[in-house]
Parts: sequence; C-alpha cells; structure tokens
Amino acid sequence: MKKYYQSWGRYPRAEQEVVRLWSRHDPFPLDRIDGKTALPRGNGRSYGDSCLNDGGMLIDVRGLDRLIDFDPETGILRCEAGVLLADILKFAVPQGWFVPATPGTRLITVGGAIANDVHGKAHHQDGTFGRHVRCFELLRSDGSRYLCTPQENSDWYRATIGGLGLTGLILWAEIALKRIGSPYIDSETVKCTNLDEFFSVSADSDQDYEYTVAWLDCTARGPRLGRALFSRGNHVNTVPDKLPRIPGRRLSVPIEPPITLVNSLSLRAFNKLYYARQREHRRREIVHYEPFFYPLDAILEWNRIYGPRGFFQYQCVLPGNDGRSAVREVLERITASGEGSFLAVMKIFGDLDSPGILSFPQSGVTLAIDFPNRGRRTLSLLDQLDEVVRAAGGRVYPAKDARMSAESFDHYYPQWRELLPYTDPILSSSFWRRVTGVAA
Ligand SMILES: Cc1cc2nc3c(=O)[nH]c(=O)nc-3n(C[C@H](O)[C@H](O)[C@H](O)COP(=O)(O)OP(=O)(O)OC[C@H]3O[C@@H](n4cnc5c(N)ncnc54)[C@H](O)[C@@H]3O)c2cc1C
Repeated sequence: MKKYYQSWGRYPRAEQEVVRLWSRHDPFPLDRIDGKTALPRGNGRSYGDSCLNDGGMLIDVRGLDRLIDFDPETGILRCEAGVLLADILKFAVPQGWFVPATPGTRLITVGGAIANDVHGKAHHQDGTFGRHVRCFELLRSDGSRYLCTPQENSDWYRATIGGLGLTGLILWAEIALKRIGSPYIDSETVKCTNLDEFFSVSADSDQDYEYTVAWLDCTARGPRLGRALFSRGNHVNTVPDKLPRIPGRRLSVPIEPPITLVNSLSLRAFNKLYYARQREHRRREIVHYEPFFYPLDAILEWNRIYGPRGFFQYQCVLPGNDGRSAVREVLERITASGEGSFLAVMKIFGDLDSPGILSFPQSGVTLAIDFPNRGRRTLSLLDQLDEVVRAAGGRVYPAKDARMSAESFDHYYPQWRELLPYTDPILSSSFWRRVTGVAA
C-alpha cells in the first residue's frame, strides 16, 4: 500500500510504501518487502528523516499494541513495541507507577523510545530511556530472534538502544517503571535573567529536583542573552486536598497556513510576553503531570503552524565546562540571525552513561530550538551552529535532524562504524544513507 507518511518536522518529503505488523508472533514481513529496503516505523514523532525511508518501505509496528505483563509490586512492565507511552501512563499512573526518562511528548511508541534512546527532564537523575529497559526481543529479516538484556546478547542490546531502527524489529520490551506517590507535581518556575543565572539555578536544582528544564527566550540579546523560565519539580507523595485542573479537550491547529506563522515580529512579541507573564521571581504550584511534562500534546498537529515547508529542530549537546562558552556562541549566532521559534529549551544533562552505541546524550548542556524552514538561509545558519558544536566536542541529535552533513555526523559519532556489523541487511533510512552513504 502506498501511503504518505511524514516526520514531525514535515521535512523532507519522502515517498514510501507501508506494510503493517499486527502480532509479535508474526514472521518478518520479507515477502511483502519486494526486494526493497525497509525501516521500522513507530508513531512518526521524530522530526527529521530518521523515521523516513524515501523510495523504500516502512514497517508500521503500531499494531503491536498489547500490554503483556505487569507486576504492581515491582513496577516491571512487559509490553509490545507499538504501545504508546500515553497508554502506559493511563494504565500505570493510577497504580502508582510512572514512565522513566519520558520525553516532551507521550505520543511515542516504546520501540521508538528505545531506537532513539530518548531522554527527558529527569536525565540528570535517571539517564536515558534505555537504562530502564531490562530486555527486549529483536526480529531480524532472516527470521532469527534475539532476546537482548544487558547480560545476554549484550552487544545486540547496546547496538539496538539508540540504533535508529537499523538492527531489526523490536517486538516487545520489559521496562522498569518508576514509583510515584501521586500524579501531581510540586513545580516551581524560576525566572533567570541571563545565561549565568540559568547555570546557577540549574546547579542548585539538580540535587533536590527530579525534573528540570528551561524555556529559553531565543530572541534576547546582550546582557539578557539566555534569559529563561526555569522549571523544576518533584512528584508529590500525597494527593493534594484541592486538586489542580486536569487538562480537558485538546485543541488542534485545524489547517495548514500557506506560510509559516512564525516570523521575527511574532517571535519577538510572543517571547517578550511569555517571559513577562510571570511577574514574581519564583512561582510555586501543584500541577497535574500532563501539563508539566507534555504541554505540547494539548495542541494536536501544532507542527502545522510552520506552513507547507515544514521546520527543523536543532538539538545539540555541548559537553563540560567549555559547553558554557559554546552555548553562548550558539545563542549569539541565533539571535544575530533573527531566526528561531517559540519552542526553545535548555537543560543540563547528567553524567549517567547511556547504554547505546549511538545514544545522543552526554554530560553537558543541551539546547533544542525549532526553526521554520526558510531554505538556504536556515540551512546555512544550522551549518554555522554545527561548526561551533563540533569545535566544542558536542553532538547533534539524529532523532531531530534532517540536514547535518556526513562529515558532521562522522565528527559527532565516530563510533557509528561499530554499529555496522549489527545493522540488518535490508533495513535502512533516509537519514542513514544521507549521513553514512551506506545503502542496505
Ligand atoms: C513534541 C515532541 C517533543 C519531543 N521531546 C523529546 C525529548 O524531550 N527527548 C527526546 O529524546 N526526544 C523527544 N522527541 C523526539 C521523540 O521522542 C523521538 O523521535 C522518538 O523516538 C519518536 O518515537 P516514535 O514512536 O514516534 O518513532 P518514529 O519517529 O516513528 O521512529 C523513531 C525511530 O525508531 C525506530 N523504531 C520505531 N519502532 C521500532 C521498532 N519496533 N523496532 C525497531 N525500531 C523502531 C524507527 O525506525 C526510527 O529510527 C520529541 C518529539 C516531539 C514531537
């Protein structure tokens, strides 16, 4: 079946045929792949082309959507790889368990979370999603099946976590959920007037707060460069007497505007108002976990606001102490260009090791900013940012990328060749061919 699947950034466009998998007991759908290359497909929440396979096939695994087993004493959950984090939360939160290392959307599959070894606001305490995966089953195109744990088939375990869907189909996984006292978060938002304040509030928060992240005003310049609203929080242990509002019906962006709604005027105006909306230096409130973790999930198809050309998200990590001056340089280049968007976040990653060969996080500061696609102008800015990130020994996140050069990828992930013996001979993606030149 030919179907138009795209990535969250809606760039680049790709044409691929789709086959679906409905049962974890099914064989690898080699007979339906027709000699082409194929790529496992989760919920398409990757921004760029790592979830696309232009000219080839996608194997849509969302039909693998069963919860298999759960121990309410230990929080160990076994589920199929097409289950959404949203479904796990719906099931587990009322029983006092939460998804560890959850990213900024809950509309992703377990398979996608493993294949990109995703991270979230708790990275400084919990590390990446892969650290909480106890085992999974991998199906290869030759029909072989591997049970992978940190001890058994550990090389396949390390290759598949963060392995960009190239090592085989993850059929199911066992995840250690995180014990919580209630679905509510004791949250505090601290205004930071510049980058130095962001670093100092972050350093003060890492020990005492499970969750930290900052919304950044990417239009602020000079002494205000890096001003931010720093959000931190912990689960509350007892359900509060006065319950905070739980978000109701979701809004949606009903149509795609002919051009992006994000321009330098709207951007400056929004950022100024958003930063000013909190008057006090600190604001503390008890909130439900949904708006705290997933504010963007409340607006369906918000990616349409960037218009038909789509958008890029640039997420980099800048390691160590040098990261501070490098992040300043990155921000200076962005503000000088007038590009950017309302969606700009910054966080300090902790130093817990990620299990995957190609996992993105490393200890340092990470910055993620959306950019409407304005063609060459945007691409040239992002190339400039790559120069700064490369010089600082940092990396760019493949799950968000649609444009980094092969040279930059090799610089960021020189270990990518270690993955080659584990890649499945028929699996490939538009991203992988672009950054490595390796066809399946
Ligand atoms: C609003 C928003 C916020 C986000 N915030 C964060 C964040 O805070 N942190 C973060 O790390 N990421 C974040 N992301 C990115 C997102 O979490 C990742 O791209 C995630 O991997 C998407 O999962 P998916 O199920 O949509 O998979 P897809 O995007 O469809 O696929 C992702 C990769 O997983 C592979 N894959 C999928 N299923 C399988 C399977 N069963 N077997 C083998 N391989 C498979 C695919 O081949 C592909 O390489 C965000 C995305 C959005 C839209």
